[in-house]
Amino acid sequence: MTDQADLLILGAPVWTADPARPWADAVAVRAGRVAAVGPEGAVADLRGPSTRVLRLDGGLVLPGFQDAHVHTAAGGLELAQCDLHGVEPGEYAATVARYAAGHSDAAWVLGGGWVMDAFGTEGPRLATLDAVVADRPVLLESTDGHSAWVNSRALELAGITRATPDPPRGRIERDAAGEPTGALHEAAMDLVADHAPPPDQAEWEAAVERGQAHLHRLGVTAWQDAAVEPDMLAAYRAVAERGRLSGRVVAALRWDVEAGPAQLAGLVERRELGSVGRLRAGAVKIFADGVFETRTAAMLTPYLDGDGRPTAELGIGMLDPAELAEAVTALDGHGFDVHVHAIGDRAVRDTLDAFQAAAAANGRRDSRHQIAHLQFVHPEDRPRFRRLGVVANAQPFWSCLDGYMRELTLPFLDPERAGWQYPWASLRRAGAVLAFGSDWTVSTANPLEEIEVAVHRVAPDDRGGEPFLPDERVDLPAALAAFTAGSAYALRLEAETGTLTPGRLADLAVLDRDPFDAAAGPIGDVRVLATLVEGEPVHADPSLDLGG
Ligand SMILES: [Zn+2]
Repeated sequence: MTDQADLLILGAPVWTADPARPWADAVAVRAGRVAAVGPEGAVADLRGPSTRVLRLDGGLVLPGFQDAHVHTAAGGLELAQCDLHGVEPGEYAATVARYAAGHSDAAWVLGGGWVMDAFGTEGPRLATLDAVVADRPVLLESTDGHSAWVNSRALELAGITRATPDPPRGRIERDAAGEPTGALHEAAMDLVADHAPPPDQAEWEAAVERGQAHLHRLGVTAWQDAAVEPDMLAAYRAVAERGRLSGRVVAALRWDVEAGPAQLAGLVERRELGSVGRLRAGAVKIFADGVFETRTAAMLTPYLDGDGRPTAELGIGMLDPAELAEAVTALDGHGFDVHVHAIGDRAVRDTLDAFQAAAAANGRRDSRHQIAHLQFVHPEDRPRFRRLGVVANAQPFWSCLDGYMRELTLPFLDPERAGWQYPWASLRRAGAVLAFGSDWTVSTANPLEEIEVAVHRVAPDDRGGEPFLPDERVDLPAALAAFTAGSAYALRLEAETGTLTPGRLADLAVLDRDPFDAAAGPIGDVRVLATLVEGEPVHADPSLDLGG
């Protein structure tokens, strides 16, 4: 019998993400594709003598999550370094000391994951690190990746003193006397980082596989790596060539703001090199600005000083609007999907203007241009996403009243602008395609925790807390769709993945509980029992009988 299924999944509701048939009872998989979804009886008809059966005891089956903006390779590297993610700030020094003692042969102590709100606006201090590591340089990135915490040895090696000017697009944090205090923002990070030994090819390849395994455990089957440098691309390519890339990957090649249009030929070449197996290097990432917390987000009106008085600061636009439009137009003309980091309302507006200029110059293409982060979106700019066909690439985990918001953001904002933040529901109502991403390692890579915040606008570690701008909540089906079908569109994978529809690839996740069931408890506590790519497990809980 030729139409028998290779695998049947029974015993749990199936949420398909397909608006034409959102719910089913069972899924059949044949030759890596969804052969049928529907009532259990009908699907079970495809059972033959060699069909494997995964019999679940409740839970939920849904399309594999697709992370529209994540740093998988860099995250995989960080997992092997001095990792401060989730560490209490009071334990940072002890954690660094333990790591340094355990890696006495490493010339540098490298790592990251500290949170900015542990230190206030002036940032962390040299002395804290000097007290635990004096013999070697220490370089620790903040969890958002926009600042670094260094020790005295690192400053010495980089030749940074009170006489060193701030580099373009960066800032050396200083005390009242002008002495560097140990925090470096944006481009100033490179003054030290350029001296640190770069990971070699083998380390990057291991990092790609480690990052991939981390995402698969969380139900993720595809992602966009949101800033891929040439050495990372080479590692992805090597892993793909060995047949070890089980996830589908869009590599967003990084646009160098210094290099201008001369870099286009190199990007086109890397797109060719980076299109192997499940890897496709068809996107380019541009940073339009920095982040609000270090006052490097590009704003339309000035930052307040913390006591409600306006300053002269408007943040740092990484490219002036004409340069940005020129870069976007050139990339669009070469068939790239352009992925722009924009936090401030001015950065968002300049980027939309750039996409408009590209469409005027090149005509409308089937592009997947996208703006990521979208912390401040002026209400007049919200309808432009639909009109220009720009995907809203959103990081829902940030849309809550956490320390970054309470201490480093709200005090520096007028109330009107404070209400413009992370407007996911408004963008949806205006017709924008919403794609969700974690921005791991900036935030957790767990899509279910991200979705919990999208639905409630409350942080999972503060579940009794006040929701942040509750009108911008999106409901559970919309949040799940943004992490499946929406991100599939952003990744140009929507013809083959993103919904559980007959004929599409059987990339799916199995959850231990059904988050639609209120009795199942908080969404972020739901666990992933199995992750399948083309019907084959890339992660499976030991408790599960995959019928192999
Ligand atoms: Zn990012």
